[in-house]
Formats: sequence, structure tokens, C-alpha cells
Amino acid sequence: MSAASVAAWVSALDGLWIAALALTLIASVRIIASLGLSPDDNNSSTTKLELTYEIGAFSFALALGITAAYTILAGAPAQVEVLMVANALGYGIGVSARNAGRPTIAIGQLAFSCLPIAAASLWTMTIGYVALGVTILLLIPAQTVITRQIFSEIRDSIASANTNARLAERMEIQARTDVVTGLANRAGLNHALANAIENHDQQSKIALIWIDLDRFKEVNDLLGHPVGDKVLKGIAERLQNVTPDGSTVARFGGDEFIVLCPIDNLKHAELIASEIHCEIMCPMRIDGELLDIRASLGVALAPDDAADADQLMQAADLALYHAKVGGRAQTCFYEPSMSRDLVRRREIEAELRQAILRDELSIFFQPIVDLETGRIKTFEALVRWFHPEKGELRPDEFIPVAEETGVIVTLGNWITVQAARIAATWPDDVTVAVNLSPLQIRAPGAALGIKNALREAGLPAHRLELEVTESLFIEDNHATAAFIDELSAMGVRFALDDFGTGYSSLSYINSFPFSKIKVDRSFVSGAQAGQKSDAIIQAVAKMGNTLGMDIVAEGLETAEQVTAVREAGCNLGQGYHFSRAVPDYLAAMLLSQERGEDKLRARA
Ligand code: C2E
Ligand code: CA
Ligand code: CA
Repeated sequence: MSAASVAAWVSALDGLWIAALALTLIASVRIIASLGLSPDDNNSSTTKLELTYEIGAFSFALALGITAAYTILAGAPAQVEVLMVANALGYGIGVSARNAGRPTIAIGQLAFSCLPIAAASLWTMTIGYVALGVTILLLIPAQTVITRQIFSEIRDSIASANTNARLAERMEIQARTDVVTGLANRAGLNHALANAIENHDQQSKIALIWIDLDRFKEVNDLLGHPVGDKVLKGIAERLQNVTPDGSTVARFGGDEFIVLCPIDNLKHAELIASEIHCEIMCPMRIDGELLDIRASLGVALAPDDAADADQLMQAADLALYHAKVGGRAQTCFYEPSMSRDLVRRREIEAELRQAILRDELSIFFQPIVDLETGRIKTFEALVRWFHPEKGELRPDEFIPVAEETGVIVTLGNWITVQAARIAATWPDDVTVAVNLSPLQIRAPGAALGIKNALREAGLPAHRLELEVTESLFIEDNHATAAFIDELSAMGVRFALDDFGTGYSSLSYINSFPFSKIKVDRSFVSGAQAGQKSDAIIQAVAKMGNTLGMDIVAEGLETAEQVTAVREAGCNLGQGYHFSRAVPDYLAAMLLSQERGEDKLRARA
């Protein structure tokens, strides 16, 4: 428009003033129309928008072309002609490149701005203008080809961007899916969990249920991985059937599943968890075989137990840990005390190594008594930890931590050396019993550790007894058998501890050279002690007598219990009725008291 105004002013042609006015008018109408029609996702208005734009674009191009043609026909001064022709051609070419994404509009604009000039040039019939007209006519198809090329490039890149987007979406779905079960995997769960935590409102709650199949490794080992996979698929299906709408069911690796579901309250979560538990416990038929699958569940709620995704996972994990430690095949809901227990465990873990160096550990001795004569035959060495701040710590609390962290090997060797040293000061007919953890036995050089302890203390091998539990034999381990064989060949004796609490298979009693069976105290003084356990003690005692083994009743607290186990056939006893575990000087006193009484009796 400004070019037309300048041209009108220079040439003093009235027609150019009209052209400048027309161009301004068209431009203004286009601006107003574009403002009035702008963003609306309605389809019909998109077509309207397009049409308005087309009319505006074409009329502006045509007005520019006609204005330039007019300067030629009206014989305007050369500079005015050049100005307007260059203006129209430049506009036509430029805008056709800019609008290449919509070729109809682009080529239309090119044609409307150029054709009037070409027509006017040819009309003059003078050689220079005819050449200009022909050039413009050649320019139009050339520019059309360029526009089409740009258009197809734009179209291709949009198409490939779409394909890429679709591909990326598919890959993202794949990356979040577990191949075996088709459930969400760890990444999928994280995604769903983040969404759930972010979007849940004040009224609603989320439950995270962490499910761990018990002894799934055995299914895999005994029946093979294909069967294991079928079990996982079956469980996945059951979980999907039993969880409420809007839940996410994920496989969290191995034999662990996580269900994330919206709940109304704690009762609701309890109901869902118990339904899941029942569903998993239903026997599963796979390849004609009926399998009993058991599972432990840990449940935590947001926002009750956790403010964010990480805390929620941690809380459910802790609850699951308690469910497993508490005997498996059960459901535990998170409680704050679980976190406190964990903190205490961590502290114990951190301080245990130091405890040996700082001399905070000591060995106590509890007598094992001959039930016929009342004489002490053996002392069981029981470790004690006197912590400067926490007070006396029970071995039940720190031995499992020592096992988990591997400290048990160092700790166990230290205990054996200490116990053997003290036992070397007792009369020759009194033996010492030391508890060994399975982990300690499976560690490389385990037998050597025991031999060194004996040599260092100067204790003959036959005065050392090693107490092992049934859990040692769950895994058929070559190292275990070698350890027991090597030491028993030297004269070290073995006792089977806590009999009746574990697998209680009688087969390994035959395969290993035990000289003693210790019947667990739950049969004697525990809640389940009674007629049934009396029968068990009788059976074990009978077997022991036949095989020439000693049978010890643990946990004897009353005189009645002593009579009962003696009548059942046990020849040895241990428990608070005789003595608690005492420090070494008191153990020595018990012995000298007993021997003193013997001497008195002999003199009388
Ligand atoms: P355990 O080998 O069954 O040891 C017997 C446990 O029963 C001891 O608990 C003992 O104090 C307790 N006890 C003895 N008589 C009675 C009784 O009449 N009534 C009751 N209620 N309890 C009685 P303690 O010393 O707390 O040891 C617990 C467990 O810790 C032991 O069970 C053993 O498995 C483990 N442990 C203890 N010392 C060692 C050790 O030096 N090395 C290893 N690896 N484990 C140890
Ligand atoms: Ca023991
Ligand atoms: Ca025991």
C-alpha cells in the first residue's frame, strides 16, 4: 500500500490513489476477519476461516497485479512502473513460497499477482514489454514447480513425524509392559504410581499391595521355567480379575507383583487384600498338575502411611518383610513401629563389627544336665552383647543381622575361640556346645576356623560339640557334608538343635553323624506343649535310644516338666529350672560346687 501511495504521489495518477485505497481496504478487512474468526476448534469454522483467508489472499494479490498492470497501461513514469511491477512480482513469488503448505492458495496468489502484469505487457505490443510478459509467463510454471516441491517436502516430513510419534508411542507402551504376563512392568508401575499420587484428591486413598509368592524358586527349580511362567501368567490373570476398576496390576520382577488401587478406607483395603490372598491360594492346575501357590502380602496406604511414591513403596516393602519374617502366607499392613524396627536393625548392623573390638560381647554358659544323676554334662555357649546405650541385646536380635551382613563368620570364629578357651579350664568330662549358623558353615575355610580355635585353646576335639539346625539341610550342599565329615573324623561332635521346628525330615538324622538331638522348647514349655508334643518327644526319644543318641529336652522351667520329659525318654535336660546362662566364673562355680558335693558324698 505504501508503495502504491508513493507511486500515486510521484506519478499524480488518480488510478493509483484508488489502488492504494483498495489495497488498504482489503488489508484492513483481512486483519479484522482474522481477528473475528480466530481460534475455534469447531470444524465448520475452520472451513470458513480457510475460505475467508483464500478470498482475502486472492483479492490482495489480484489488486497488486492489476495496480502494476495499470501503471504499464497508463504509461506511468519508468520508476513508478518498476516499483509497482517489482512489488507485485516480489509479493507473488515470496508469498507462494511462504504458503507452499497449501499449494492452491500459493499458486493462486502467484497467478493473481503476476498474470495481470504479463497480460498488460503483451497488450502494449512493444518488444521490451513483450519480453517482460513472456518472462513472467515462464516464471509462473517455474515457481509453481518450486512451490510443489516445497509442499511435498513439508507433507513428507509431517507424515514421518506422525509415524515417528506413533512408533514412539508403541515403544513406550512396550517399555512399560512385562513380556511374560502382559501386566505393567516396573517402569509402568512407576508411571502409574506417579500419576496416582499426583492426581488423587483429599477424599480418596490409594492402597499399594505388594505380593511376593512364597517359595516360587522351588516351582521353577523342580518343575522348570515354562511351568513357572505359566504360574506367573495365571497369577496375573487372577489379580486382574479380583482387583477393582481403575487399579494397576504390575509384575515387579521375579515372583513379585504390585497392585495399586483406589480405595475408600482401611476396611476396603483389607477386603481387597484378603480377596487377592484367597484368589492366589486357590489351587492352580498347570499341565495336569495341581499346584498350591502361597503368597505373602504387604500393604501400605497413601496418604495415611506415606506422602509420596517412594515412601509408599518403602512402607509396603517393610510390611511385606514383616509378613515374610512372621511366617509367610500372610498379609501385613504397614505400621510405624516397622520403621522403628528397621532403624534399630540398621544401627545394630552398623555397630556389630565394632562391638567385638570394643569388648562389648561376652559368652555366657547354660548347663545341660543329666536327668538321671543331675550332673552337668555340657555347657552351651550363648553369646551376649552388652551395649553401652541400648543395654543387653538378645542374640535373636543381632545374630540374624550378623547373618545377613556376613559378619557371622568373624563373630562365629571369635565365639568358638572364646568358648573353647574357657572350656579348656573345666574338668575333662565336661564338654562345650557352640551354636553354628548355616552361613558360617558354608563359608570357605569353615572347618579350618574350628580347628584353629581348638588348637589355640588347647581343647581336645571330642570336648567340642557343634549345634546346627535343620535349616542347614534344606539346601543339599556339598560344603555342609564335607564340613561335618571332616570335623567328626577328628572327634568333634554334632547336635541337631531346635528339633521339631523346621522341616523335621528324619532322613538327614541318618545321613549325618549326630550324637545328640535337642527337642525344641516349644514342645516342653511352649504354648503347644501338651499331649501331642509328649507323644512326639516319646517317639524322638525312642529313635534316639535305638540309634545311640542323646536326647535333650530344651526349656525346662519346672520340676513337673523335668519329670515329664524324663518319663518320655529324654536323658538330658536344659532350662531355667537348672540354671540360666551365666558368665564363665559362675559356670566354673557351678562345676566346683557339684564336684565338691561329690567329694563330700564320697567321704560320707
Ligand atoms: P538356642 O540355641 O535354642 O538357645 C537356647 C535359647 O533358649 C537361649 O536363648 C536360652 O537362654 C533360652 N533358654 C534356655 N532355657 C530356657 C528356658 O527354660 N525357658 C526359656 N523361655 N528359654 C530358655 P538366647 O541365649 O537368647 O539365644 C537365642 C538363640 O540365639 C539361640 O537359640 C541360638 O539359636 C542363637 N544364638 C545364641 N548364641 C549364639 C551363638 O553364639 N552363635 C549362633 N550362631 N547363634 C547363637
Ligand atoms: Ca542351641
Ligand atoms: Ca535350641
